[in-house]
Amino acid sequence: MISPDRRSFLKHAGAVALGTGLSAGTGFCAETAKRDSVIRQELTVRVDAKDQALVGRVFKILQDRIETRCPTRVVESNTGVQLVLTIDSNLAGDAFRVDDGGGGVRIAGGSPRGLLYGVGKFLRTSQYAGGFEPSRWRGTSQPRGTLRGVYFASHFHNWYHQTSAAEIARYTEDIALWGVNAIKLAFPTLNIKDWDDPEADRAIAMLRKYAKATHELGLQFATGVNNTWFINAPKSIRAVPLPDPTHRRGNSGHPICPSNPEGHAYILANARTLFEKMAGAEIDILVFWPYDEGGCACEKCRRWGCNGFLKLSRQLAELGRSYFPKLKTVLSTWMFDTPPEGEWQGLADALEKENGWVDYILADAHEDYPRYPLDVGVPGQLPLLNFPEISMWGNSPWGGFGANPLPRRFQRLWDQVKQKVSGGFPYSEGIYEDITKAIVVQYYWDAERTAHDTLTEYIAYEFGGGVAADVLALIDDLETNAALSYRKQPVDLEAARHACYLAERVDARLPAWAKQNWRWELLHLRAILDRERFVGGSLDTPTAEAAMLRLIEIYHCQIETDDPYHHRVRPPLRSAVSRRGTL
Ligand SMILES: [Zn+2]
Repeated sequence: MISPDRRSFLKHAGAVALGTGLSAGTGFCAETAKRDSVIRQELTVRVDAKDQALVGRVFKILQDRIETRCPTRVVESNTGVQLVLTIDSNLAGDAFRVDDGGGGVRIAGGSPRGLLYGVGKFLRTSQYAGGFEPSRWRGTSQPRGTLRGVYFASHFHNWYHQTSAAEIARYTEDIALWGVNAIKLAFPTLNIKDWDDPEADRAIAMLRKYAKATHELGLQFATGVNNTWFINAPKSIRAVPLPDPTHRRGNSGHPICPSNPEGHAYILANARTLFEKMAGAEIDILVFWPYDEGGCACEKCRRWGCNGFLKLSRQLAELGRSYFPKLKTVLSTWMFDTPPEGEWQGLADALEKENGWVDYILADAHEDYPRYPLDVGVPGQLPLLNFPEISMWGNSPWGGFGANPLPRRFQRLWDQVKQKVSGGFPYSEGIYEDITKAIVVQYYWDAERTAHDTLTEYIAYEFGGGVAADVLALIDDLETNAALSYRKQPVDLEAARHACYLAERVDARLPAWAKQNWRWELLHLRAILDRERFVGGSLDTPTAEAAMLRLIEIYHCQIETDDPYHHRVRPPLRSAVSRRGTL
């Protein structure tokens, strides 16, 4: 039997014009439609193409996210249908369409993954106050960027390193709903002695766990290899340290010289072992990284970016394809020419002759985007990616004060490259930059979408209706002080006070589900900690300590640690202990 709620939903759904966005009319009629369209008891969903595992998973995600946010139950049935999930092979694989058909609102994906993205859009544009009010968004949407990745830097006992398989699965679902199609993790050789070190097994198990979570959602799994290997690598094969006059290229890790025959054999043998240990978990994308961890400045390897690095990357690509025949490759140019100058031009000259082994060129820097690919062109005429650093900028310890939304900064950086790039991998150290992840991934989907637009959608979906203006102002205040603090200028005390005032005002109005969401907690705690450290001038107050302890709990940090790098990702609680690191 169709409930009154369902009948009114059908009536409403049929009245919405195809292709229109959020508005379905004005004045009295729209208000009536709005009231009538709330489904208070049960949403009935017909799920087509259930033989595809991901389609069933998409239904479960939809059900979970709606039931978390409102009392409406979501049931699967072919009678009294109000919502249809289906596949339409006429659409491009990652595209989706939301229209009216099949007895209710219909979400069609060009593939199960496209359906997942369509459900993401539907969920974010629906409303949940007092019951489920289905989205009025109608239209077809297709991503512009082909590689919409996120790099989870899973090390130092940060959230990615510490969290459970269940949290990984849920978080991967959450960011996939925004349009992600690839997740990258690196094998953290920085912390591992050799393959016999128990940490090596743990790291492989972690990679395989993430690969599984990624593949179960129909996304691609990416990892990297370069010339940096284990702590115990023989001294005789180590690389010659690189010049780093700007001190921003990074020199961590234990790089090996690939021009040394023994070093070369060591790198290839370890890459082979890594690929063998990943057998059955499928590596879809292999990324080659020149610096930070990596590089060699010896006579035979230099200029590294267009010589030793290039030769080694090509050999690693061939080796990788012998294990994973469909493997795509990404050649990073991060920090090229800083110096040694001439790496970009050398790369362009080399790829002019032969570019068949590379699928994408990745470029980025700590600040503005490198000019070479924008002004001269992309070496090998290959698609270009970016690598926005969303985690560490002006934020030490990383995530140590809670959320760090930076919409103005990333809009400015995106505007430099939006006509040129085909996607990228934002660098992520944890969940505290979830807001920026959503903004960046939506840039990859639609280059013209603004941070403000994505943020408004994010706030409505994650925190509920009626708080957008306050949360936008709160984020603006937080970013003002993050930017001043980064530039070592005096912070704006009024902005710090105002952010906290807004956070408390929002907190008092949030529905229970949003208040319990770590996304809100991280933002709220950031406002509190900014007030304590900037206005109060101390992180030793009981309020600040309580806030940091809660962050430590959310991040699964260690209060006492033997990890020499954990202090980089742990809130700066005075009583926390790093036995081998420094606070
Ligand atoms: Zn060398």
